[in-house]
Amino acid sequence: MSPGEPLEPQPGDGRQTGNSFIPGSIGTVRVGGVPIRLHFTFILLFVFLLVVGLGERQSAPLHIAYIAALFGSVVLHELGHALVGKIHRVRTLEIVMFPIGGVARMERSPSPRAEIWIALAGPLVNLLIALALAAVLLWTNSFTPLEELALPSDGNLLERIAAGNIVLALFNLLPAFPMDGGRILRGVLALRKTGDEATRLAARVSQFLAIGMGLYGLLSTNYMLIFIAFFVYLGAAQEGAAAVGRMLTHGLPVRAAMVTDYRTLAHAETIRDAANLLLATTQQDFPVMHGGHVIGLLGRNALLRAMATGGPDSYVSGTMDRNFLRLSPDQDLSEAMRLLTPPGSCALVMDGDELVGLLTAEKLSEFLLLRRFGMQPETTPRSGAAD
Ligand code: ZN
Repeated sequence: MSPGEPLEPQPGDGRQTGNSFIPGSIGTVRVGGVPIRLHFTFILLFVFLLVVGLGERQSAPLHIAYIAALFGSVVLHELGHALVGKIHRVRTLEIVMFPIGGVARMERSPSPRAEIWIALAGPLVNLLIALALAAVLLWTNSFTPLEELALPSDGNLLERIAAGNIVLALFNLLPAFPMDGGRILRGVLALRKTGDEATRLAARVSQFLAIGMGLYGLLSTNYMLIFIAFFVYLGAAQEGAAAVGRMLTHGLPVRAAMVTDYRTLAHAETIRDAANLLLATTQQDFPVMHGGHVIGLLGRNALLRAMATGGPDSYVSGTMDRNFLRLSPDQDLSEAMRLLTPPGSCALVMDGDELVGLLTAEKLSEFLLLRRFGMQPETTPRSGAAD
């Protein structure tokens, strides 16, 4: 973790507010207490659609209205997830809008049955919008022939918005992560299998589908499809890995994975001392102590920077990060895993004021590997050997 990063949860506090977990998101609007953020790539798509879609048969204001309506439909879709999540007591942390749709990030993974309902809610919202628009069109008797849908005009605006919503619903029902269909598939599988197996199977189906979609895109030179397939493949891989990680750590305390054999630096030591310790050990992050208390954390990158700017005789206390990430030994490990996502991040495990361990992203992935191979973790306090 680089210095100045505003990540400092209180020990034992399971809630995480403040910055988004998804990098690249800008601008926030709150609807019903749920922050909605735009991913910067979404803005690119918005501009692209605005420029490309302008034709002779439609006026610019109605074209903007069309794109805004589709954007609004995606937001309502995500709010549908959030609402049904709320009914099942799963809080939505944030909604991030990506080019291929939105992502509603939930506080915790719901039960299989709840997951099916939460996932279904989004596409259902789009189908309801399409139905409502169809009712208006029927009422006003203003349906235009379906084959004219491909020719955007001011006359078929409502019809195109309805069609767009049907496409959104169907696309999201594809049984592939990160689409809702993937979640529904996992939920259905999890009713009969263990969660771990269900997630792995659903992720495999998703990747298989993405490869098929990508190949079809290549053969038909449909670049948009290749692009989507790429996103689906990555999303599925990520989803699979994250879910397996969550399952391997769920219910375990931080102390089960923390490093208890580590070296520390005294605040009066120099960058040269720290560099020697970096070379002599495999450790990359060093707690800085003063009178038996931790006052900071010196990471490898900060150490190298200090060596380059301040020289080897500068003091570690002038370089260390005072706002380091703290975890409590009894905090849920799956929670800690989310906080330690950036590679190279390190947290200090503190029992009140006392330093009891270290947890790094690298150690955590080692722990996950060992868990995958069946290692049963120790959850009783291990004796520490801090010097
Ligand atoms: Zn959805």
